[in-house]
Amino acid sequence: MTPPTETLFTKIINRQIPAEIIYEDDLAIAFKDINPQAPIHVLIVPKQPLPSLADAVPEDHRVLGHLLMTVKRVAEQVGLENGYRVVINTGVDGGQTVNHLHLHLLGGRPLHWPPG
Ligand code: 5GP
Repeated sequence: MTPPTETLFTKIINRQIPAEIIYEDDLAIAFKDINPQAPIHVLIVPKQPLPSLADAVPEDHRVLGHLLMTVKRVAEQVGLENGYRVVINTGVDGGQTVNHLHLHLLGGRPLHWPPG
């Protein structure tokens, strides 16, 4: 597994750089994406700096489950009652650009399928 390192998202968690934080608890934080791809685009990020889903081990199951429940909670909080999409870009081919696991919550308009 890639060793945990300080990431851009660690700096947001530690308030070293600003972000529009809309939810936070012991395990996770949610903030608005700086370059939104839909009317609502929120990133849900574990405080534990797991680099990507590909680096997860069985012991991470609790935080991984918590992240999905946090998506549901945040989706309700921001009023996505018509539905939404959850995306986890993973690795180079997955288009991951920040090496700190994050879930994209996208909604607020009908979303196309398949993605590019
Ligand atoms: P990825 O491409 O790794 O799946 O997603 C990274 C996301 O982080 C992108 O959607 C990008 O817009 C977002 N992002 C990059 N830098 C910042 C930042 O400084 N603040 C916030 N709020 N989002 C960022």
